[in-house]
Amino acid sequence: GYPAGYKHEPTTEFHHQHEMRLQQEAIENVATTLNTSNKIRLSIGRPLAESGVWSTSLNPANPTQILAQIEEANEEQVEAAVSAALAAQPEWSSASLPERATILRKAAAYLRSHRSEINAIEIMEAGKPWLEADNDIGEAIDFLEYYAIWAERLDTERLDSPAGETNQLRYRSRGVTLVIPPWNFPLAIPMGMTAAALVMGNSVILKPAEQTPITASYIVRAFEHAGLPAGALCLVPGRGETVGAKLVRHPQISTIAFTGSRAVGLDIIEAASHVAPGQTSLKRVVAEMGGKNAIVVDMDADLDQAVPGVIYSAFGFAGQKCSACSRVIVHRQIFDAFVDRLALATSTLIVGDPRDPAIQVGPVVDDAAFAKITRMIEEGKKGSELLEQGTLPDSDGYYIPPTVFVNPDRQSPLYREEIFGPVLTVERADDLDDAIWRANDTIYALTQGVFSRSAQAIARVANAARAGNFYVNRGITGAVPGRHPFGGFGNSGVGFKAGGPSYLIQFADQQVISENL
Ligand code: GLU
Repeated sequence: GYPAGYKHEPTTEFHHQHEMRLQQEAIENVATTLNTSNKIRLSIGRPLAESGVWSTSLNPANPTQILAQIEEANEEQVEAAVSAALAAQPEWSSASLPERATILRKAAAYLRSHRSEINAIEIMEAGKPWLEADNDIGEAIDFLEYYAIWAERLDTERLDSPAGETNQLRYRSRGVTLVIPPWNFPLAIPMGMTAAALVMGNSVILKPAEQTPITASYIVRAFEHAGLPAGALCLVPGRGETVGAKLVRHPQISTIAFTGSRAVGLDIIEAASHVAPGQTSLKRVVAEMGGKNAIVVDMDADLDQAVPGVIYSAFGFAGQKCSACSRVIVHRQIFDAFVDRLALATSTLIVGDPRDPAIQVGPVVDDAAFAKITRMIEEGKKGSELLEQGTLPDSDGYYIPPTVFVNPDRQSPLYREEIFGPVLTVERADDLDDAIWRANDTIYALTQGVFSRSAQAIARVANAARAGNFYVNRGITGAVPGRHPFGGFGNSGVGFKAGGPSYLIQFADQQVISENL
């Protein structure tokens, strides 16, 4: 594989009884520790007086169950965190790239040895089905290993040097990086952004997503265990509108790594362009935003591949992935057959509490998501034709039935906006050109896919696709670092692909030294 030495972390084989039992036990053990006396505090590498304001992390499958209390940072604590991160930066950046890479590898080892425990936390805190949780831990490990290898390759490079002159390019850290991750990949995404910033010698302030702070606290544990100097990674929990907004605008933050909605991303990009008097660096923003992703099903597609590929892409983790399939565009010749099978497959999905390993679709993350998706479905029914809805468990959890519409109204939010829930629309295309046009009829450009047996048709869709990640005859989610470097263009984000060869250099400044001998 490329780069040499990188190996994707395998998924846990839950179909083996032994692994199944270990995970079951981890869920039972972890459940006994998740309650109101489980407290997660701000951590900045030294003791700090409590803010006295606490929020809670809930189980979306059973929202009356409090899993932890989380300290919300106040203004003083935010300042203390920035100072701690600034103070830690010179020492941390003076470590060599290979030394910093070693810390990443040790953090990866910590995650490997705590995998079933973190899986259990995600199952309860994020509502992830087992395999989805396990893949998130695996992806976090992949990011650590992959960025460790790339960091070692980025050491000083000799440039064209005529006689009498030596020219060298090297990478310098930028200072303090602010990491603002989403809750949907609660370990992998914050870990990827944090690891990249750290390995390039920056210190990091991690403001975890409000819905998944317990999972995020394992990032701090992993790096503590790995021997990262105190203060180089600060955990600063709090609400986005207050703590996040304050940090984004802080003059001593030099880089912001964000993954989340387009609305918040655009606000960050705008805020980051303001320069306070005396501010010594201009903020660089790496922002991974939304998607409205389509799969094209061509007339000769293998429906045994296309139906499960679309189902998993649309309803895996209840559609709460920016890579999720939100629209499927089907050639008219195969439309009826595809739609019949899609409806049947949707109706048989098992929705429920993901502590049960048989569950295919869990709850959505919180009450706000539940209300928003429910409203979009209700409004969708006005202009578009409801084809099928899955069945719900009898529970107070935030469950939304997997929902399929056909012939969506092209002006509706259902068709235009990122839904981030288990909702799919199906359109009939007259021919391949019509399908291609429809697939690109969005401001986003994140993922897209095609199911077809014709190499020529595949090439036509691929070449026309406005999408950062294009998938052929497979689902469009589940990018693996190193194999499928991930990220879009258009309105889907700014910056280089996560898990790809250019990601790290965003967290560094390049410096050229020209020496006249
Ligand atoms: N990398 C994930 C995937 O390929 C999506 C990340 C996201 O939802 O932000 O499915």
